[in-house]
Amino acid sequence: MDTTGEIIRRLRREKGLTQLALANLLHLSDRTVSKWECGRGLPDPGLLPELARLLGAGAEELLRGDLRENPPQGGNMKNLKCYFCPHCGAVGFSVPEMKHSCCGRILEPLAPQAPDAAHAFHIEVRDGARQVTLDHPMDKEHHLLMLAFVSGEKCLLFRQYPEWEARAELPLRGHGRLLALCSRDGLFETRL
Ligand SMILES: [Zn+2]
Ligand SMILES: [Zn+2]
Repeated sequence: MDTTGEIIRRLRREKGLTQLALANLLHLSDRTVSKWECGRGLPDPGLLPELARLLGAGAEELLRGDLRENPPQGGNMKNLKCYFCPHCGAVGFSVPEMKHSCCGRILEPLAPQAPDAAHAFHIEVRDGARQVTLDHPMDKEHHLLMLAFVSGEKCLLFRQYPEWEARAELPLRGHGRLLALCSRDGLFETRL
């Protein structure tokens, strides 16, 4: 575990800023920044949000002196995680898991559910491709946001829009996970 000062120094260098440059951005003297970094004093609480923003970190992580960095992780596309912010409708993906936050909230990866009748995938081979459709409402309050096909090394994303038919065209071959993200009911998954 580092101290707040060590974290500030590390992040400042990662941003390519000198002590003076960071101090100027905060309208402080470089002596103040130097003091923090040497552990002779902590940033004023009122400065923390701006300092954290400039360093591209969380204020909480700065104060705690711990960035909670993950160990190096590999992971192929099969470990793709999906995140959804119910407040603004933003969708995020990562391989494997990473911290996502939106609208001031920390987002947890969605746990895929087995499709129920309202979220059943229909797959039909036509025109040299697998045509995926869902018989799902597509109105503003309740619609599909995204369809995705995820295999070991590839992820195909198909953005869906209200008022349009939910559909995706997949290559004929390939095994993987077929995902549908619903604006109201979460994530559904079936195997192909
Ligand atoms: Zn949001
Ligand atoms: Zn739904």
